[in-house]
Amino acid sequence: LTITLLAGGVGGAKAAEGLAASIYAANTQVIGNIADDEEFHGLWVSPDIDTLIYSLGNQIDRERGWGRKNESYRLLEELSLLGQDTWMTLGDLDLATHIYRTELRKQGVRASHIVQRLAKRYGASLPILLPTDDVVQTQVNTPSGWLSFQQYFVREQCKPEVLEVDYKGANIARATSEALFQIAKSDLIIIAPSNPIVSIGAILATPGIQQAIENSNAYVLAISPLIAGKTVKGPADKMLASMGLSTDSKGIYQGYSSFLDAMVIDEADRGDLPWLHDQGLDVLVTPTLMKTREDKCALLTRAVDFAQQRR
Ligand code: GDP
Ligand code: CA
Repeated sequence: LTITLLAGGVGGAKAAEGLAASIYAANTQVIGNIADDEEFHGLWVSPDIDTLIYSLGNQIDRERGWGRKNESYRLLEELSLLGQDTWMTLGDLDLATHIYRTELRKQGVRASHIVQRLAKRYGASLPILLPTDDVVQTQVNTPSGWLSFQQYFVREQCKPEVLEVDYKGANIARATSEALFQIAKSDLIIIAPSNPIVSIGAILATPGIQQAIENSNAYVLAISPLIAGKTVKGPADKMLASMGLSTDSKGIYQGYSSFLDAMVIDEADRGDLPWLHDQGLDVLVTPTLMKTREDKCALLTRAVDFAQQRR
């Protein structure tokens, strides 16, 4: 059983860890999101990919869900004293990753290969593929103008209203052969409980990726990132609402309707079941909040077992 997980940052990494801890780990690969990437202090930072690597390598700060554990911020403090903008929290250990990534990019090493090397260094327990080696950057239009994704997410703390989202560079990005091959040979594609617009939407925005999913024989299952119509963390609910989509399982389904076979929703959202069944979906209703390693493994195992029975 070949499994592909499409994953963003924190929600994506939880699902990835769940699969890594399950009996399905050996045949699973993850496709991550590079559209939250941005340059800080001359360094190329790839937050969602690093969240995946650090989580799967057990290097993550478990309390926050991002960044390295046992981190310090001496370099950032010094930069701040020099008058630099330091709203993007980059720790000393984390900065080594960004320096390394930036150096290799300058040497012309493919972004996918840099991820492989970092994943090896930190002991990531699943292979991580990129949708593209090219630069795609999510931009968010707000009442006061366009912001980069990190300006919106970190600096403005998701407070501005989102009018529209653009995946800058996606139109000319080329999908990696690894991602296309992995999708094509998958029996099961799992969409992590990630932000459907800026995490999964950004992966799907690379030309060829969504089509590859539509064309594959894989059974496609999405785990909803909403519980009782709210996100566990982050702005997905607000973004759905401001883009005219409903902040429930329907809104999640709408972005995935061209390829989705099944959805996993929380017990709290059982009321969405009839509507989802009417769309022809298989639906698993189960607790979806993942706190511990056991929660993650149990949910992902239930999801894969469910897909196995249905496909
Ligand atoms: P980001 O890139 O770090 O913002 O993370 P993702 O896009 O991967 O995931 C963000 C989404 O994960 C949010 O919409 C959260 O609601 C969702 N999420 C986080 N933890 C959980 C969880 O334990 N269960 C479920 N169902 N969703 C979660
Ligand atoms: Ca992200």
